[in-house]
Amino acid sequence: MRCPKCQADDTKVVDSREAEDGSVIRRRRSCVACAQRFTTYERFEEVPLVVVKTNGQREPFDRAKLIAGVEAACKGRPVTAEQIEQFGEAIEEYARLRGPEIPSSEIGLEVLDRLRSVDEVAYLRFASVYKGFDAAADFQRELVLLKKLQQS
Ligand SMILES: [Zn+2]
Repeated sequence: MRCPKCQADDTKVVDSREAEDGSVIRRRRSCVACAQRFTTYERFEEVPLVVVKTNGQREPFDRAKLIAGVEAACKGRPVTAEQIEQFGEAIEEYARLRGPEIPSSEIGLEVLDRLRSVDEVAYLRFASVYKGFDAAADFQRELVLLKKLQQS
């Protein structure tokens, strides 16, 4: 960090503390050359997460929308609201690691992959929406696939 007064490159941190509930680190620095004191702030870079839909349209990632979809799939199933909330967080974390842009299909597959171990019925419901199933045969095929996966 260059000194704002004499432009020397050699400055040292004399104090670091968290501010705004830990989302910001405030550092007091001192210039080794001229002893000028100054303060820097370190904070998260807010990188927007963008979902690329199959038709090429881009939209900001919406966790509430994702959770609504998972909630609908879990309706009447023994899955708690807390589980669904955690599920949404886990998916968002996954998407952020893959981001800043992620295809919606990839999010859908990740949801399916994780939902399978949460609840079989919820998984099939989500799959039916996600994959656009309309025939009973599709469900049947998916069930066979699911059984195979569980056996392996
Ligand atoms: Zn200086």
